[in-house]
Amino acid sequence: MHSLRILLVVLILAAGTALAQTPAAPAATQQPPISQDVTSKPTPLPVTKSFDVSAMDTSVDPCVDFYQYACGNWMKNNPIPSDQTRWTRSFSQVQLRNQYLLWKELESAASTPKTPLEKQYGAFYASCMDTATIEKLGLEPIRGSWRQIAALKSVRGIPALLSWLENRGTPDGFFEFGVSQDEKDSSRQIAEADQGGLSLPDRDYYIVDSPHFAEIRAAYLEHMKKMFTLAGDTPEQAAKEAAWVMEIETAMAKASMARVDRRDPEKIYHIYTVDDFQKLTPEFDWKMYFSTIGIGPFDTLNVVAPDFFKGLNVLLAGEPLGAWKSYLRWQVLHGEASSLSSAFFDEDFRFFSQILGGQKVPQPRWRQCTRATDGALGEAVGQDWVKENFPPAAKASMDKLVAALEKALADDMRQLPWMSDETKKAAEEKLAMIRNKIGYPEKWRDYSSVKVRRGRFVENEQQAALYERNYNFAKLGKPVDEKEWGMTPPTVNAYYNVAFNDINFPAGILQPPFFDFTIDPAVNFGGIGVVIGHEMTHGFDDHGSHFDGQGNLREWWTPADRKAFTARTDCEADEYNGFQAAPAHGDTPAAYVNGRLTLGENTADNGGLRIAWQALLDALAEEHKSIDGKIDGFTEAQRYFIGFAQVWCENRSEAIARQLVLIDPHSPGRWRVNGAVQNFDQFGKAFGCTKGQPMFPVNSCRVW
Ligand SMILES: [Zn+2]
Repeated sequence: MHSLRILLVVLILAAGTALAQTPAAPAATQQPPISQDVTSKPTPLPVTKSFDVSAMDTSVDPCVDFYQYACGNWMKNNPIPSDQTRWTRSFSQVQLRNQYLLWKELESAASTPKTPLEKQYGAFYASCMDTATIEKLGLEPIRGSWRQIAALKSVRGIPALLSWLENRGTPDGFFEFGVSQDEKDSSRQIAEADQGGLSLPDRDYYIVDSPHFAEIRAAYLEHMKKMFTLAGDTPEQAAKEAAWVMEIETAMAKASMARVDRRDPEKIYHIYTVDDFQKLTPEFDWKMYFSTIGIGPFDTLNVVAPDFFKGLNVLLAGEPLGAWKSYLRWQVLHGEASSLSSAFFDEDFRFFSQILGGQKVPQPRWRQCTRATDGALGEAVGQDWVKENFPPAAKASMDKLVAALEKALADDMRQLPWMSDETKKAAEEKLAMIRNKIGYPEKWRDYSSVKVRRGRFVENEQQAALYERNYNFAKLGKPVDEKEWGMTPPTVNAYYNVAFNDINFPAGILQPPFFDFTIDPAVNFGGIGVVIGHEMTHGFDDHGSHFDGQGNLREWWTPADRKAFTARTDCEADEYNGFQAAPAHGDTPAAYVNGRLTLGENTADNGGLRIAWQALLDALAEEHKSIDGKIDGFTEAQRYFIGFAQVWCENRSEAIARQLVLIDPHSPGRWRVNGAVQNFDQFGKAFGCTKGQPMFPVNSCRVW
């Protein structure tokens, strides 16, 4: 299936993705009955304030724990809602607000569509809300796929079976396959095969030898048994099938590359001819697969993780036909479970959301269906959404802000004492080539080929998945479309795309508390300004710095400058390794941030805070204002830092905190704030801290 790999560096890990569903309490916890709320309707939410004194805990010394000072009261007064695993003052609340506005549009399109587009996405949304039909259909939507799997005659027939399933938009595991930009020639779009095939969020869940993971594995086996039994297996059959799936997924996990290694672009770039790839994995007939999945012809491809495919080949040679049938039955059932009738939905929720994620109850159905429709037909729904919710003036203001940040980063680069003029020149060239995309695409995608039918939710989702796959396959060998977007307009997030060398800010994030027309510049620079600086800095972090302004993997640094840069990123990695994500208790040791996994994001947070500050100084100078001038009792400098911190106020359960340190490339909110301010002396000065206090240390790290 199609994958975007790590070309996009996002601002925050989106909730509701497979990655966000991570283990919490082990299986032994009680199992309250699950009941989906299919009837409630949302109410309008107030706009989140950009600068909120009532969110602060001013009894805390900002020089000791700035995050607690800026967010303490908010954290106390905003416990995690029961249908969430974590709750963020900015992202979660704005997302809920955006979804409410989207929901209004979808409800109206579902009942009284006025345009062909409304008819299409209205029907998609209605099919998701139609739980009565979903209930009546039960397992029916996947029976055709299961019949095809049952008819598999030999392991050699797997490639043809995978293409049959994928040509119907059905999930089937095994590996990821799609079209990506060539890392070393970003003007080319080439085929790419990558590791995949796992159901749990990371390879660690299968292979780490600890009581915690052992309990999760036991619970996963139980979950699979229940699902197979619900689908009609005898308990004995179900146990056998579950054991086979576990065996195959565990072997795939062992053959997979670790997340930290995948940050090194050289380690995930291996161009093979199709013939050589065939020699690497003789047990899988690639020519049969490639010629039947609806992609054009090609001679070479990037094999992201060759060891994974070597491992897959050994597995194909060794596992019996029955094991593969079980694995495939599981991939289809698991992949569609949350869209099936309540027996399957509930058991899927119980394991993947309750046990793995610590979420108590499902989100109300209107939220699930709003998200599903945005995910399936995002640019259809989004074009009507921006008409209502994105004023043209917002785009003009953003253009100005981005220009201010670009200038500040260029000034910052010129002043770096450790970098040679030669590398500085190349860095400035790359910076000048960064393109900005703000709000929404200039040209919308055409979804007219997606067949949507009322009462057919699973088929509609499969049609949308097939559309995405074909859209991706059609890129093979074509020129790159630089105007393409990787997020839908209502998304509350932002990203840097290393192959495009561009920064992208969907309309969904361009509102309070990130961006507010009515508030003083200091708060806006601390909010959206730091976000813009963060995305630009990704072009120059431990990963992005290996790519040039054209988006090509190429060393443009002198060896001495690369060495100095690495010493600086090492400082930051070591520093963040010391930040605690969850405390020790009982036999459970404390969990710490992984400084290597989060290095790019931490570098971007630190760089963003520094260059947005410089841009603020420039903006104030233009108006002949001082950074020490006061508004409502706080200096401009203090308002900048508080505005920044309040973007990251959050509550996350301990269980989620423990697990996100394994898979989330972002640090927890506390360290996104405290880590960045303690590396920036202007913070200590703004709050009158004494050198040596925690937020104003004697030694700190600086990359940009
Ligand atoms: Zn980022």
